[in-house]
This record gives sequence, structure tokens and C-alpha cells, in this order.
Amino acid sequence: MLGLMQDQPLLISSILAHAARHHPKGEIVSKTVEGDLHRTTYRDIEPRCRRAARMLQRLGVQPDDRVATLAWNSFRHLELYYGISGMGAICHTINPRLSPADLAYIINHAEDVVLFLDTTFAPLIAAVAKDVRTSLRAVVFMTERAHMPDIALPMGMDLLCYEDLMVAADEDYAWPSFDEHTAAALCYTSGTTGKPKGVLYSHRSTVLHAFASNMADVIGLRAADRVLPVVPMFHVNAWGTPYSAPMVGASLIMPGRHLDGASLTKLMNDERVTLSAGVPTVWLGLLNHLRASGERLHTVKSFVIGGSACPRLLFEAFDKEYGIRIDHAWGMSELSPLGTYNAPKPANADLAGEELMRLREKQGRSIFGVDMRIVDDEGRELPWDGTVSGHLQSRGLWVCNSYFGGTAGDALTPDGWFATGDVATIDADGYMEITDRSKDVIKSGGEWISSIQLENLAMSHPDVAEAAIIAARHEKWDERPLLIVVPREGRTIDKAALLSFYEGKVAKWWIPDDVVFVSELPHTATGKVQKLALRTEWANHLVAG
Ligand code: AMP
Repeated sequence: MLGLMQDQPLLISSILAHAARHHPKGEIVSKTVEGDLHRTTYRDIEPRCRRAARMLQRLGVQPDDRVATLAWNSFRHLELYYGISGMGAICHTINPRLSPADLAYIINHAEDVVLFLDTTFAPLIAAVAKDVRTSLRAVVFMTERAHMPDIALPMGMDLLCYEDLMVAADEDYAWPSFDEHTAAALCYTSGTTGKPKGVLYSHRSTVLHAFASNMADVIGLRAADRVLPVVPMFHVNAWGTPYSAPMVGASLIMPGRHLDGASLTKLMNDERVTLSAGVPTVWLGLLNHLRASGERLHTVKSFVIGGSACPRLLFEAFDKEYGIRIDHAWGMSELSPLGTYNAPKPANADLAGEELMRLREKQGRSIFGVDMRIVDDEGRELPWDGTVSGHLQSRGLWVCNSYFGGTAGDALTPDGWFATGDVATIDADGYMEITDRSKDVIKSGGEWISSIQLENLAMSHPDVAEAAIIAARHEKWDERPLLIVVPREGRTIDKAALLSFYEGKVAKWWIPDDVVFVSELPHTATGKVQKLALRTEWANHLVAG
């Protein structure tokens, strides 16, 4: 017997329709590329999103077509998120920090038909347009006529102005209803190894992820929140905030391209931001700015940090010096992205000092909707004792099943789990801790050493600005940890003193064999330290000569 409840598909357009009807005054404030501050509300943006759907129809966009965006976080990007998916097409967000070759590759692979972009990226598209195949019919700059860049495009590719098209379209459009499993958004992984792969989110997975993200022990947004996603809308949908914020009526503060400490501080204070989310490098930049300028953040209550392991320094500094709570989360493009979130349980609510810090450094526990397990090289499940590490696998309601252009289930193990490529421990309370990417693991004399734990310790040294550990080749042990350090500005660090900093904190045989000092570390398009580049440069450091 079937239940006797109403049946409505989980569609992304319903989130915005709800926000416009029940939170009409919720704000979307955007720092534009031109430098001014644009303000709108859910009431006013919803008809603009319907107008955007009409504009797409006039451009010949059909359901299932891929429509690309190359843009910062802004109200126009939000209009496209809803306009494109709301009409049944697929919003393909492109990371502008990818190499031009990868950019052309993914536009071709996705067979994008229209590309919407910020004027900042005019040189980028001018450079790659010749390598883009003919599926791309139009390039639309997300600006007004007065700011249109003048670039040459290949024959058959129109150069258009967003606001002109919006004026020409009308808003007499009603959101259509369709199967909730329909594809809504496409995001390519940063592709540190091999070609980027497309993760294709559905309406259903996106709406469920937004619900889950709004649970109290997850990001838990509320109507009174003013959320500043530093994490870009071109990387895993800004961790779902463009959906989770309107779902509860929270205001969105869009920083555009200004992500440095000074700009973020000003925007957060001016716009009374309560919560923000981003990768550790952003918060390190913000912390440096606050310390150097003496400024404070007056309204921020918490930061969500993920994408890379959150160094201890950030927990300590923001908590103690600024009264801002840091929430540690783990996820990946293939998980929409949220997989775990670090929130207390009764069993650990009273922890303090070092024990509490160790708990907070972990990436968190499973959120309802995503399960996880750790397995050994043969795929046998490993115990949850907080010590044994293994390959982390996930499955759930917003976990990738196969990549765009692949065949159903081809991203999964034979028994239906997604292999994350991370290596982790899980403790008896269910808290998972990432120890490495499997390709970054250091195998010294047959035993694994966690590069993340060693990096975190190095980063807690007062004179270290940033640190990375790589596996360096070693004649006797095969591989040994090598510490690569960027000293804090104006400081010099003594090698031996830095290495002795590890004593008593990790097993003796984990202590790195050497330290190299550099002026900066290379980062990937999504803000992670580029270990591959470091390995290419330093892997022979311990064997050379
Ligand atoms: P991406 O798909 O680009 O978002 O990258 C996902 C990867 O980032 C994961 O598989 C992890 O290796 C890493 N990652 C994400 N969050 C964390 C975290 N809190 N701590 C450590 N690594 C993380």
C-alpha cells in the first residue's frame, strides 16, 4: 500500500519560490566586478530568475542543454543558478583558475551551448575560444552595455550582453514541474591527476543536500543569518549555500572577486555577516590581516572550514582571540560536497584542552544521508578505533554514482560505495579523521605516516606561515617525510629547533628527515597545496648527492 501524502518532486526552483513568498525581505548583497555594492531581495530576484529562463529560451537553450558559467559569487550568478536549472537545463560552473587547456577541455567535454561570464574573464575566453568546438553558440558577459569588453570570437559564436538580454526577455514564465532526478548542475573536479571529471548533480540530490546542510549539527543556517560564502560558486556550488540560504530565508552576501583579508573584513562588518565558509588559506589570509591591522569582526559568530585540513592555529586564534567558532567539515565535489561535520556528542561535550583540540582537528561524523566506512587494500572493512587508517568510502543520497559521460555506477566499488581517494581513521564515537590523500601517503619502511598530522603540527609553530609534507625518496626506508615550510613574514626559523618541535608530539620515526624553506607553496585551482608540483621539485631531496 502506498502512503496517502501529496507527491511533489524535489525541485530547485521550489527553494527560490519559497524564499520569495515567505522571506521576501531576505537580502542578496553583491560586490560587483565594477566595484560597487548591489542589493536585491528574494522577492525581487525570483522574477529576475524567471526572466533569465525566458532569456535562455530565446537563446535556444533546451532542457538538458549544458549552460556554462565562469563567474564570481554574485546576484547574476545566482539568477543563472536558478534560471538554468529551473527550466530543466544544466548549470555547468567552470573554475576560472583551471589552466586554459583544462578550461577548453571541459567546455568541449560538457558540450556547453552558451557561456555566461564576468568581464574579469574576457582575456581567458579570448585565449581559449579558438580551442572550443562549435557547440558553443554564444558568449554572454554578465554586465550592462556600458561595461561590455571588446573581444574577438570565432565565427558563429555571438558576443552578447546579459542586461540587454534580460530587458528583452519577459518574466511571464512559470517554473515547470519535472522528474526530480533530472540533472541540475555540473561541476568538474580539479583534476590534480588525469583529466577533470564531471560530477552531475540532480535536483533531488541538491535539495536533499540543502536540507541536510541546514540541520542543527551541520551548518544549520537560520533566517536571521547573513551568510558570506567565500567558497566560490564555481567550486561545488559554493558548498550548497546558494540553495541552503534561501531555503531558510538567510541573506546571502556575495564577495565577488575580493577575497583578501582587508576586503573580507570590511564586507563582513559593513553587512553584519554572521557566518562564512571557505578553505583554510582564505582564513589564514584573514587572520594575518586582522592581526596586522588590529581590526575585529563585530558580527561573525562562526566560520565553516573545509576543503583541506583545518590547521590548529585557526581553531585557537579565531576562538581565543576573536570569539569566532570554527566548524570543521569534510567533503568533496563527488559528495555535493558535505560528507561529515564536526559537532559535539554527549560523549565528548565536556572535553577540554588538548583532548578537545584533538577532537576538533578531526573532520567530523557522518551526516544523515551519507554513510562512510574505511577498508584495507583488499576492500575488507577496518575497525573504528581512531588508530587504524584505511581507504575512505562513502555512499548516500548526494554521492556521485558515475561521472558525466560515463556509464551508470562506474564510479563505485562492486558493492556500491564511492572510493573517495582519502585515507582516514574513524574513532569509536564515529568521528572520521583524514590522514592523507591516498596518493600523498608516505610509506616509510612499509608503515604509513600521516602527512596531514605532520603539517598541522608544523603550522602550529608560531613562526610558520604555511607547511607541506611530501614523501621524499629514501635509500633505506623507501620514503621519508620532508617538511617544506613558508616562514612567517620577517621570521627566520632554525631547522633543528623546528624538527625538535615534533618531539613528544608524534612517534620518533614520524619526524621529518629534513626541512626546506620556500617563499610560497603552489596551490591548486581550489586552494589546496599542490603536492604533485612539490614532489616533482623535492622528491629526490634526500637521495641527491
Ligand atoms: P574537491 O572535490 O576539490 O572539493 O576536493 C575534495 C578533497 O579535499 C577531499 O577528497 C579531501 O582530500 C580534501 N578535503 C576536503 N575537506 C577536507 C578536510 N576538512 N580536511 C582534509 N582534507 C579535506
